[in-house]
Amino acid sequence: MPFTARRSTVTTWVGGVPVGSSMPVVVQSMTNTDTADAVATATQVVALARAGSQLVRVTVNNEGAAAAVPEIAERVRDAGVIVPIVGDFHYNGHLLLARYPDCAATLAKYRINPGNVGGKRRDENFRTIVSIAVDHDKPVRIGVNWGSLDQDLLTTMMDENAHAANPLGAKEVYIEAMLASALRSAELAEEVGLGHDHIIISAKVSGVQDLVEVYRRLAARCDYPLHLGLTEAGMGTKGIVASTAGLSILLAEGIGDTIRVSLTPKPNGDRTEEVIVAQQILQSLELRSFAPQVTACPGCGRTTSTFFQHMAEDIQGYIRERMPSWRDERPGVEEMKVAVMGCVVNGPGESKHANIGISLPGTFEEPKAPVYIDGRLATTLRGDTIVSEFLGILEDYVSTHYTARALSSADASSATTTGSSSRMISPVKPISASRS
Ligand code: SF4
Repeated sequence: MPFTARRSTVTTWVGGVPVGSSMPVVVQSMTNTDTADAVATATQVVALARAGSQLVRVTVNNEGAAAAVPEIAERVRDAGVIVPIVGDFHYNGHLLLARYPDCAATLAKYRINPGNVGGKRRDENFRTIVSIAVDHDKPVRIGVNWGSLDQDLLTTMMDENAHAANPLGAKEVYIEAMLASALRSAELAEEVGLGHDHIIISAKVSGVQDLVEVYRRLAARCDYPLHLGLTEAGMGTKGIVASTAGLSILLAEGIGDTIRVSLTPKPNGDRTEEVIVAQQILQSLELRSFAPQVTACPGCGRTTSTFFQHMAEDIQGYIRERMPSWRDERPGVEEMKVAVMGCVVNGPGESKHANIGISLPGTFEEPKAPVYIDGRLATTLRGDTIVSEFLGILEDYVSTHYTARALSSADASSATTTGSSSRMISPVKPISASRS
């Protein structure tokens, strides 16, 4: 359950994915390939979707990109993946969508940045994009960004503020200008004929406190679904922690209907990391479940070797590898909790709180590893085969506690397409938990 009830919104359908407060928070992502390269982009869209991204956005920045969109969608479909593809437009969206009707028809949503739709003809260009969205019955995201705010609007609001009896600080005016840009654009879109339930709004900034402030105000002033994200979050730990901090505060307050974590990957890094992080944020907040959670202690001077760390990593990897088929065949398994603990201090206690847990022997402890299932001591493992035996017990638990779902031919196809492409460790034969 959310910490605070979800802020009430209308529901906006993006392709087949509903976005709004009556639905679970949607995870989305964005490619970083050259969209004109249909093969590379389709490959990444498939990877992101298979990682769990429910919507995937691609930049549509030139004619080559617009022309490639239908082929990308076809290639994604041919890979057996069904995921709505969203087009990200800046500066020339009105031209590209008009010149490439197949692109306009293929995309499930258009993202418009009101600060980047063209100088003096801003409103006219904006209307053109919205008219095309109306013609194709597509929703739009009005995505305001701190770094590309409508400068005319900002200047006007700054001037008005300067002449006000009690002028606000510059940052305050900036925040209000972002909100005004988003909400006035939404109003204009509805004037053009776009349905109230065809609009999603975002107002992204790069600082956590500013993000929270902007979205709290936005949430109070409209009932459009909100797309949350910390823009330019950054690389690695910084990007993950900053995004988690900002998004968690808002999600705990019931604000946010779809999220994207904007991580900067390392060169040749894995783009799907942003999907995993987004899922983990939602699962850590207990808003959604995507995969069994492994609770592992950090280890300390009581842990005898790196064996404990390797075991925790192997179990986490095994679960990630098995999830594609478990997700299809074993509904409910994503709620499972697994504990891997380093010694007797917290090991048995934490293991008892999990569905299945193991407490490894710490320094000077007897070399045995008790395994707990649903809070009770089920068996004790010893020797060099602890990992494989524990994974066998894990498989056994899944097969006996999560009812197998009969696969229809469509499901079977889906299961195939979402399967893992590589195995991290060899599968182990399920064994019974009767040892002691
Ligand atoms: S459970 Fe044991 S090994 Fe793990 S952190 Fe606590 S005291 Fe250290």
